[in-house]
Amino acid sequence: MRADDSILVLNCGSSSVKFAVYAADRSREVAPAGSGAGASEVAAARVRGQVAGLGGKPGAAHLEWRVAHEPAVTESLPSVRSHQDAIDHLLVALERSAGLRGTLKVAGHRIVHGGGRFERPTLLDAAAIAVLEAQVPLAPLHQPHNLAGVRALAARQPELAQIGCFDTAFHASQSPLHTTYALPIEMRERGVRRYGFHGLSYQFIADRLPSAAGPLADGRVIVAHLGNGASVCGMVERRSVRSSMGMTALDGLVMGTRPGSVDIGVALHAITALGMDADTLSHALYDRSGLLGLSGISHDVRTLLASADPQAAFAIEVFCERAAQEIAATAVALGGCDLLVFTAGIGENSPPVRARIADRLGWMGVRLDRASNESGAALISDPSASVAVRVMPTDEESVIVGACLEHLARRG
Ligand code: AMP
Repeated sequence: MRADDSILVLNCGSSSVKFAVYAADRSREVAPAGSGAGASEVAAARVRGQVAGLGGKPGAAHLEWRVAHEPAVTESLPSVRSHQDAIDHLLVALERSAGLRGTLKVAGHRIVHGGGRFERPTLLDAAAIAVLEAQVPLAPLHQPHNLAGVRALAARQPELAQIGCFDTAFHASQSPLHTTYALPIEMRERGVRRYGFHGLSYQFIADRLPSAAGPLADGRVIVAHLGNGASVCGMVERRSVRSSMGMTALDGLVMGTRPGSVDIGVALHAITALGMDADTLSHALYDRSGLLGLSGISHDVRTLLASADPQAAFAIEVFCERAAQEIAATAVALGGCDLLVFTAGIGENSPPVRARIADRLGWMGVRLDRASNESGAALISDPSASVAVRVMPTDEESVIVGACLEHLARRG
């Protein structure tokens, strides 16, 4: 392996291709995802950025990127419309720049749905891609774009190994008790079950728990991933027992623009009585609900906390109430809780949201040390509390880099 050989990480969404380039030499050791070996950090990305504005108005696409230690660059891409165009342009741009002097050795993709088949990072050969294509109905808004990126890269660099890293994989350890819906057998036989998401984030936290939390790491741990998407995961021995998310990423907590758990009868009512079709309802559920729908102001907790509008305060209260309820439900699945971890944008950065959730959980032994919570300390529980509470930063991308390094090490 040459020092300037690289790993490309791609996260292909509906309107953007987010990318980062990392060193492929193991100059800084990374624990393989799922090894539980604790972990040192992945070296910083050499380049990161995105092609944004895909699928919109002609001429809307543009490339924003930053080579490490250099100023950010924005470039208009008038001829780019599709993921294939975006990836073609991206590879040429990277080859021209200082970001990719050596050879691209492997690419890692974030893929939202591995269904019941993919329980760990997987080489995306033709057979694996065919299985993932068949799973598009499980995540119709995300999976097609994830796979478009895989196909686009394969078309341009057929020899390049591509690794899929799945948001569902971490939850493969869950038992049927926590994955089965009380639905007719013919629906369950067609893949209708709970899967759980945010698995790359939970994998990152699980790998770092031993160094962060010592012996509590292998106990009953509840991780609250509170970002624009939000979920709670209960773990024992750092393996997933229960997720608040279900077959899709709509279930569970209130999110930025998604409602979390809603009586399924509401969807039937929307179609039969409110005259909404599947597309309108999907848009309402994925893009117009959650904190945005509740407040009518913003999906962003920072904006809502700064607002004097009572609807903003109400939206935050509903968010915190529902988060506390899901943490409590997860404690039932674990038979209690030894450690509660807050992570992701809101969990890592918002002391008032952490406090409002914790205040609702005093009955189960959660009590914060106010000063530690306000100051951004890593351990924020009161020393007398029976549940330890920590703030841990998450890094989903480094789990993908770890999987790519593991692939390169296996290949020798
Ligand atoms: P993520 O999806 O993990 O990137 O989290 C994004 C969300 O984190 C944003 O939409 C904000 O609501 C929230 N966030 C980020 N920084 C802060 C902060 N300092 N205080 C409150 N919320 C924050």
